[in-house]
Amino acid sequence: MSELDDVLRDLVIANRILGHEGICDAYGHISVRSPRDPKHYFISVSRSPELVTLDDIIECTLDGRPIKDEKRSLYIERHIHGAIYESRPEVMGVVHSHALDVLPFSISPTPLRPVIHSAGQLGHRIPVWDIAERFGDTNLLVSNMAQGRDLAERLAGDRAVLMRGHGFAAAGRSVREVVRLAVNMPRNARVLLDAIRLGGPVKGLQPGEIDNRLEMRPDGSEFFRAWEYWAARAGCSDMLGAPPRATPTPAAAPASRAAAPASRAAAPKKAAAKKGRR
Ligand code: MN
Repeated sequence: MSELDDVLRDLVIANRILGHEGICDAYGHISVRSPRDPKHYFISVSRSPELVTLDDIIECTLDGRPIKDEKRSLYIERHIHGAIYESRPEVMGVVHSHALDVLPFSISPTPLRPVIHSAGQLGHRIPVWDIAERFGDTNLLVSNMAQGRDLAERLAGDRAVLMRGHGFAAAGRSVREVVRLAVNMPRNARVLLDAIRLGGPVKGLQPGEIDNRLEMRPDGSEFFRAWEYWAARAGCSDMLGAPPRATPTPAAAPASRAAAPASRAAAPKKAAAKKGRR
């Protein structure tokens, strides 16, 4: 299978996961930048993510035009994707979701911030974009590139942006990473809201802790564990590719050696050397 086949297969799995985990329902979408042409991306035609198959995936230019004639209707809000790819060369996957759990933070002055370890990858800042600031009364949908670019400008270099009274857009270095962000963001919002209800100061992740989470490799074996689990729950285990190579873990020293008191520590070494000479 080519790299493109792998990417498209991951995109279908990602659609099913977002549907199954309740991040996208009838609405919401995910895309991936083309590994062959950074000025193109792949996205489904207008279909609910949980129902998406390989046949639904089309290739678009960054300004949202399909590269082949397309009779099926497209997502109106695909400009969210193109505009973020246009402004962020390192971004390879984008999700747009209407997950209800994050919405309180899009309409109140209380910022959404990482408070659970698995949401540390959301980074230090989750800005809020209000379409009305620049476009006045709209139907709130990101319907053209000007609106998409305005949203991307608010996202700036961050991982996710809330859209006032509407949802969020998240940007990742891979499809798997952005799925992880999108799944963990509403969970983090639920915990934060519950903590606020409990009263008193809320202790979120510390800046250094967020930095450490941001350093984690987007396609490492530790991420694959969740990807495999979510794919299985969504009924697409059969589509999974090979897991990434794990970091080898050296075996523990034999118990007797490890437990030897310091004064006798040299003894097993000698024995081993003797053995080696034989
Ligand atoms: Mn939307």
